[in-house]
Amino acid sequence: MIYPWLEPIWQQIDRYWQQQPHSWLLYGQPGIGKRAFAEHLAQALLCESLQAGHQPCGHCPSCHLFNQHSHPDFLPVSPEETDSTGNERKQAVIKVETVRKVLDFAHLSAHRGGRRVALIYPAESMNVQAANALLKILEEPPLGMVFILVSHHKDRLLPTIKSRCRQVGLLKPDHNQALAFVQQQYGEEATNLLAFHGGAPLFDNENNHNQLRDELLSLLVKPRLLALLDYAAVFDKQKLALATFLDWFGKWLLDMILAQQNMPVMYYPAMQQTLVQI
Ligand SMILES: [Zn+2]
Repeated sequence: MIYPWLEPIWQQIDRYWQQQPHSWLLYGQPGIGKRAFAEHLAQALLCESLQAGHQPCGHCPSCHLFNQHSHPDFLPVSPEETDSTGNERKQAVIKVETVRKVLDFAHLSAHRGGRRVALIYPAESMNVQAANALLKILEEPPLGMVFILVSHHKDRLLPTIKSRCRQVGLLKPDHNQALAFVQQQYGEEATNLLAFHGGAPLFDNENNHNQLRDELLSLLVKPRLLALLDYAAVFDKQKLALATFLDWFGKWLLDMILAQQNMPVMYYPAMQQTLVQI
Protein backbone atom coordinates (compact mmCIF):
# COMPACT_ATOMS: atom_id res chain seq x y z
CA MET A 1 0.00 0.00 0.00
CA ILE A 2 1.21 3.49 -0.80
CA TYR A 3 -0.11 6.55 0.98
CA PRO A 4 -1.82 8.85 -1.55
CA TRP A 5 0.73 11.66 -1.22
CA LEU A 6 3.52 9.28 -2.24
CA GLU A 7 1.80 7.97 -5.34
CA PRO A 8 3.50 10.51 -7.67
CA ILE A 9 6.87 9.25 -6.38
CA TRP A 10 6.10 5.75 -7.59
CA GLN A 11 6.58 7.13 -11.09
CA GLN A 12 10.28 7.52 -10.27
CA ILE A 13 10.41 3.87 -9.25
CA ASP A 14 8.68 3.01 -12.48
CA ARG A 15 11.21 5.06 -14.45
CA TYR A 16 14.27 3.49 -12.80
CA TRP A 17 12.86 -0.04 -12.97
CA GLN A 18 14.50 -0.99 -16.27
CA GLN A 19 17.93 -0.16 -14.87
CA GLN A 20 17.28 -2.81 -12.20
CA PRO A 21 19.12 -1.10 -9.36
CA HIS A 22 20.36 -3.70 -6.90
CA SER A 23 20.10 -1.23 -4.04
CA TRP A 24 17.60 1.51 -3.37
CA LEU A 25 17.77 4.24 -0.78
CA LEU A 26 14.39 5.71 0.11
CA TYR A 27 14.76 8.73 2.34
CA GLY A 28 12.66 11.46 3.92
CA GLN A 29 11.50 12.71 7.30
CA PRO A 30 9.91 10.30 9.80
CA GLY A 31 6.16 9.76 9.71
CA ILE A 32 5.44 10.15 6.00
CA GLY A 33 4.96 6.50 5.03
CA LYS A 34 8.43 5.47 3.84
CA ARG A 35 8.19 2.01 5.31
CA ALA A 36 4.87 1.21 3.64
CA PHE A 37 6.31 2.56 0.39
CA ALA A 38 9.42 0.39 0.76
CA GLU A 39 7.29 -2.69 1.45
CA HIS A 40 5.22 -1.93 -1.63
CA LEU A 41 8.44 -1.78 -3.65
CA ALA A 42 9.59 -5.09 -2.15
CA GLN A 43 6.26 -6.69 -3.00
CA ALA A 44 6.52 -5.37 -6.57
CA LEU A 45 10.05 -6.73 -6.93
CA LEU A 46 8.82 -10.16 -5.86
CA CYS A 47 5.45 -10.14 -7.66
CA GLU A 48 5.03 -12.82 -10.32
CA SER A 49 2.39 -10.95 -12.30
CA LEU A 50 3.31 -7.26 -12.33
CA GLN A 51 0.64 -4.78 -13.36
CA ALA A 52 0.95 -1.53 -15.30
CA GLY A 53 3.40 0.94 -13.75
CA HIS A 54 5.21 -1.98 -12.10
CA GLN A 55 2.51 -2.25 -9.45
CA PRO A 56 2.29 -5.56 -7.60
CA CYS A 57 -0.79 -7.56 -8.60
CA GLY A 58 -1.88 -8.46 -5.06
CA HIS A 59 -3.11 -11.96 -5.90
CA CYS A 60 -0.24 -14.07 -7.27
CA PRO A 61 1.28 -16.67 -4.90
CA SER A 62 4.18 -14.34 -4.20
CA CYS A 63 1.89 -11.42 -3.28
CA HIS A 64 -0.14 -13.74 -1.02
CA LEU A 65 2.97 -14.85 0.83
CA PHE A 66 4.11 -11.27 1.08
CA ASN A 67 0.82 -10.05 2.51
CA GLN A 68 0.91 -12.85 5.08
CA HIS A 69 4.40 -11.72 6.14
CA SER A 70 5.77 -15.13 5.23
CA HIS A 71 7.55 -14.62 1.92
CA PRO A 72 10.72 -16.73 2.09
CA ASP A 73 12.59 -14.40 -0.28
CA PHE A 74 11.90 -11.25 1.72
CA LEU A 75 13.94 -10.29 4.75
CA PRO A 76 12.96 -7.17 6.71
CA VAL A 77 15.61 -5.95 9.14
CA SER A 78 15.08 -3.48 11.96
CA PRO A 79 16.92 -2.70 15.18
CA GLU A 80 16.35 -5.23 17.92
CA GLU A 81 14.83 -3.31 20.75
CA THR A 82 15.32 -4.29 24.34
CA ASP A 83 12.21 -4.74 26.42
CA SER A 84 11.02 -1.32 27.49
CA THR A 85 9.66 -2.78 30.72
CA GLY A 86 13.09 -4.09 31.68
CA ASN A 87 15.93 -2.09 33.10
CA GLU A 88 17.43 -1.24 29.76
CA ARG A 89 16.16 1.58 27.65
CA LYS A 90 15.27 0.93 24.07
CA GLN A 91 18.40 0.71 22.00
CA ALA A 92 17.83 1.22 18.36
CA VAL A 93 20.91 -0.30 16.79
CA ILE A 94 21.30 -2.77 13.94
CA LYS A 95 24.36 -4.77 14.86
CA VAL A 96 26.84 -6.59 12.68
CA GLU A 97 25.37 -9.98 13.66
CA THR A 98 22.07 -8.90 12.15
CA VAL A 99 23.75 -7.76 8.95
CA ARG A 100 25.51 -11.12 8.75
CA LYS A 101 22.07 -12.73 8.61
CA VAL A 102 21.33 -10.47 5.65
CA LEU A 103 24.56 -11.60 3.98
CA ASP A 104 23.66 -15.27 4.51
CA PHE A 105 20.21 -14.60 3.09
CA ALA A 106 21.73 -12.80 0.09
CA HIS A 107 23.76 -15.85 -0.86
CA LEU A 108 20.86 -18.30 -0.74
CA SER A 109 19.05 -19.16 -3.92
CA ALA A 110 15.54 -17.78 -4.22
CA HIS A 111 12.77 -20.10 -3.01
CA ARG A 112 10.41 -18.93 -5.70
CA GLY A 113 13.02 -18.56 -8.43
CA GLY A 114 12.75 -14.79 -8.66
CA ARG A 115 14.52 -12.04 -6.76
CA ARG A 116 15.39 -11.88 -3.08
CA VAL A 117 14.78 -8.62 -1.26
CA ALA A 118 16.16 -7.31 2.03
CA LEU A 119 14.66 -4.19 3.58
CA ILE A 120 16.76 -2.30 6.13
CA TYR A 121 14.78 0.13 8.26
CA PRO A 122 16.04 2.59 9.31
CA ALA A 123 19.41 2.24 7.65
CA GLU A 124 21.11 4.82 9.86
CA SER A 125 20.60 2.57 12.87
CA MET A 126 23.34 0.27 11.60
CA ASN A 127 26.45 0.76 13.70
CA VAL A 128 29.82 1.24 11.98
CA GLN A 129 30.69 -2.46 11.82
CA ALA A 130 27.25 -3.33 10.48
CA ALA A 131 27.42 -0.58 7.85
CA ASN A 132 30.85 -1.75 6.72
CA ALA A 133 29.68 -5.34 6.46
CA LEU A 134 26.73 -4.25 4.34
CA LEU A 135 28.94 -2.07 2.17
CA LYS A 136 31.00 -5.09 1.11
CA ILE A 137 27.97 -6.85 -0.28
CA LEU A 138 26.59 -3.70 -1.89
CA GLU A 139 29.85 -3.48 -3.81
CA GLU A 140 29.38 -6.98 -5.22
CA PRO A 141 25.75 -7.95 -4.84
CA PRO A 142 24.81 -11.55 -5.62
CA LEU A 143 22.67 -12.00 -8.71
CA GLY A 144 18.97 -11.41 -8.12
CA MET A 145 19.47 -9.80 -4.73
CA VAL A 146 17.91 -6.37 -4.12
CA PHE A 147 18.53 -4.20 -1.06
CA ILE A 148 16.08 -1.51 0.01
CA LEU A 149 17.48 0.91 2.54
CA VAL A 150 15.10 3.31 4.22
CA SER A 151 16.45 6.34 6.03
CA HIS A 152 15.05 9.17 8.14
CA HIS A 153 18.49 10.85 8.19
CA LYS A 154 20.47 9.99 5.11
CA ASP A 155 23.25 12.36 6.19
CA ARG A 156 24.07 9.75 8.84
CA LEU A 157 24.80 7.04 6.27
CA LEU A 158 28.25 6.28 4.96
CA PRO A 159 28.79 8.19 1.69
CA THR A 160 30.10 4.95 0.19
CA ILE A 161 26.79 3.24 0.95
CA LYS A 162 24.76 6.10 -0.49
CA SER A 163 26.78 6.14 -3.69
CA ARG A 164 25.93 2.46 -4.25
CA CYS A 165 22.19 3.11 -4.10
CA ARG A 166 19.57 4.52 -6.41
CA GLN A 167 18.33 7.35 -4.19
CA VAL A 168 14.69 8.36 -4.11
CA GLY A 169 13.51 11.20 -1.86
CA LEU A 170 10.03 10.87 -0.36
CA LEU A 171 8.13 14.02 0.57
CA LYS A 172 5.52 14.75 3.18
CA PRO A 173 2.02 15.72 2.01
CA ASP A 174 1.09 19.40 1.79
CA HIS A 175 -0.44 20.85 4.93
CA ASN A 176 -4.10 20.52 3.95
CA GLN A 177 -3.75 16.93 2.83
CA ALA A 178 -1.87 16.04 6.01
CA LEU A 179 -4.37 17.84 8.21
CA ALA A 180 -7.33 16.09 6.58
CA PHE A 181 -5.61 12.75 7.13
CA VAL A 182 -4.82 13.42 10.80
CA GLN A 183 -8.29 14.84 11.47
CA GLN A 184 -9.84 11.51 10.50
CA GLN A 185 -8.12 9.98 13.49
CA TYR A 186 -7.72 12.73 16.03
CA GLY A 187 -10.43 15.29 15.30
CA GLU A 188 -9.85 18.63 17.02
CA GLU A 189 -6.42 17.69 18.27
CA ALA A 190 -5.20 17.29 14.70
CA THR A 191 -3.74 20.79 14.24
CA ASN A 192 -1.59 20.64 17.36
CA LEU A 193 -0.49 17.05 16.81
CA LEU A 194 0.42 17.67 13.18
CA ALA A 195 2.40 20.77 14.12
CA PHE A 196 4.26 18.91 16.84
CA HIS A 197 5.19 16.19 14.36
CA GLY A 198 6.56 18.72 11.89
CA GLY A 199 3.75 18.25 9.37
CA ALA A 200 4.29 14.48 9.05
CA PRO A 201 0.90 12.77 9.37
CA LEU A 202 1.90 9.29 10.61
CA PHE A 203 2.88 8.99 14.26
CA ASP A 204 2.22 6.99 17.39
CA ASN A 205 0.01 9.04 19.61
CA GLU A 206 0.64 7.76 23.09
CA ASN A 207 -1.47 9.52 25.65
CA ASN A 208 0.98 9.18 28.50
CA HIS A 209 3.66 10.79 26.33
CA ASN A 210 1.35 13.66 25.46
CA GLN A 211 0.57 14.18 29.10
CA LEU A 212 4.23 14.13 30.04
CA ARG A 213 4.99 16.61 27.29
CA ASP A 214 2.21 18.92 28.44
CA GLU A 215 3.66 18.81 31.95
CA LEU A 216 7.04 19.79 30.58
CA LEU A 217 5.54 22.72 28.68
CA SER A 218 3.76 24.07 31.73
CA LEU A 219 7.01 23.79 33.67
CA LEU A 220 8.89 25.66 30.97
CA VAL A 221 6.39 28.49 31.17
CA LYS A 222 7.43 29.09 34.80
CA PRO A 223 10.64 27.16 35.28
CA ARG A 224 11.67 26.30 38.83
CA LEU A 225 14.70 24.14 39.38
CA LEU A 226 13.15 21.91 42.05
CA ALA A 227 10.05 21.28 39.97
CA LEU A 228 12.28 20.41 37.00
CA LEU A 229 14.16 17.90 39.11
CA ASP A 230 10.88 16.30 40.18
CA TYR A 231 9.89 16.21 36.55
CA ALA A 232 13.18 14.52 35.65
CA ALA A 233 12.35 11.75 38.12
CA VAL A 234 8.88 11.24 36.63
CA PHE A 235 10.31 11.24 33.10
CA ASP A 236 12.96 8.73 34.08
CA LYS A 237 10.35 6.28 35.38
CA GLN A 238 8.77 6.12 31.93
CA LYS A 239 12.04 4.78 30.52
CA LEU A 240 11.85 7.12 27.57
CA ALA A 241 15.01 7.87 25.66
CA LEU A 242 16.79 11.09 26.50
CA ALA A 243 16.46 11.91 22.80
CA THR A 244 12.70 12.15 23.33
CA PHE A 245 13.16 14.79 26.00
CA LEU A 246 15.66 16.65 23.83
CA ASP A 247 13.19 16.55 20.94
CA TRP A 248 10.40 18.10 23.05
CA PHE A 249 12.72 20.69 24.56
CA GLY A 250 14.51 21.47 21.30
CA LYS A 251 11.18 22.16 19.61
CA TRP A 252 10.27 24.49 22.46
CA LEU A 253 13.51 26.42 22.01
CA LEU A 254 12.99 26.70 18.26
CA ASP A 255 9.49 28.01 18.84
CA MET A 256 10.88 30.47 21.37
CA ILE A 257 13.27 31.84 18.75
CA LEU A 258 10.41 32.24 16.28
CA ALA A 259 8.21 33.94 18.88
CA GLN A 260 11.04 36.32 19.67
CA GLN A 261 11.09 37.34 16.01
CA ASN A 262 7.29 37.73 16.03
CA MET A 263 6.93 34.80 13.68
CA PRO A 264 4.29 32.05 13.93
CA VAL A 265 5.68 29.18 15.99
CA MET A 266 6.08 25.76 14.36
CA TYR A 267 5.70 22.96 16.88
CA TYR A 268 3.49 24.22 19.69
CA PRO A 269 0.94 26.52 18.02
CA ALA A 270 -1.33 26.42 21.07
CA MET A 271 1.49 28.10 23.02
CA GLN A 272 1.96 31.00 20.57
CA GLN A 273 0.76 33.75 22.92
CA THR A 274 2.54 32.31 25.93
CA LEU A 275 5.80 32.05 24.03
CA VAL A 276 5.52 35.64 22.87
CA GLN A 277 4.97 36.79 26.46
CA ILE A 278 7.91 34.78 27.78
ZN1 LIG B 1 1.70 -10.39 -7.43
